[in-house]
Amino acid sequence: MGEILLPMLGLKIDVDTYWGMKNGVPSLLQTLKELNLKGTFFLSIGPDNSGRAALQLIKNPLFLKKMMRTNAPALYGWKTAFYGTLLPAPMIALSFPKIVNDIITAGHEVQFHAWDHRRWQDELSSKSEKWIREWFGKGFAGFEKLTGNKPTAFGAPSWLIDDRVLTIIKEDKFEYLSCTRAKAPFIHEIAETLEIPSDLPCFEEIDAQKGISIIADLIKDGGTHVLPVHAEVEGGIFQNQFRELLKKTINMGIEVVQLNKIKEKLDIQTLARRKYKMELLPGRHSPCAV
Ligand SMILES: [Zn+2]
Repeated sequence: MGEILLPMLGLKIDVDTYWGMKNGVPSLLQTLKELNLKGTFFLSIGPDNSGRAALQLIKNPLFLKKMMRTNAPALYGWKTAFYGTLLPAPMIALSFPKIVNDIITAGHEVQFHAWDHRRWQDELSSKSEKWIREWFGKGFAGFEKLTGNKPTAFGAPSWLIDDRVLTIIKEDKFEYLSCTRAKAPFIHEIAETLEIPSDLPCFEEIDAQKGISIIADLIKDGGTHVLPVHAEVEGGIFQNQFRELLKKTINMGIEVVQLNKIKEKLDIQTLARRKYKMELLPGRHSPCAV
């Protein structure tokens, strides 16, 4: 991120599923505690409709390819593949108030990721403005119930946004958004809000064996970067690689931080004001905002 020349690595930790909240978050909390590090947890609050992806799988050969390559059932557990179809959709963060409290007590930043992650990801473009407003309404109510506060940041599911979303959230006056995979922070047109993007690839998009050295190479430039982390992945199958990467980062003299620390260091006046674009990034099956 060209605008700030401080060696910092922000951890943007998304929780997308019931399995990730239940198993991935405690694992990540343990790793972060061991290494005395803080990150930002973006929580999915409402129903886990992951099983709806299994329906997608039948309809979309590209999706099937991705599922096979990333071995999604091994990543997320078999039950997850049926939530919202053969099995009822369980609530994600709302099922685990104690774990939410553990995140806060450990001193991490907690922000809003989703009400229904899966439906946003699959159906946003076909949904009405009313549906989007209700999605935020339910999500904020659940977030407040769990944390006692309104979120001060939003990270869109799958880095998917549109102009209607930015118009709606302008009213919420978020301190920042983390909705894109852009290479540097900017000010969103329409929402008129700071964007702190995830500029690095996530583990599941790159070769797992080479992941540590690929990311270490990208962060050694002395600048500030944000790593997108998923509770289901770095808190599951890749937990050892994630710990190794964090140790390596510390040894490189890079400060690991939560995203609101990056916000404090940014000189807002110098940032570009622009509109997001949608782009298909390597290793992903649908376009992301950049
Ligand atoms: Zn997500």
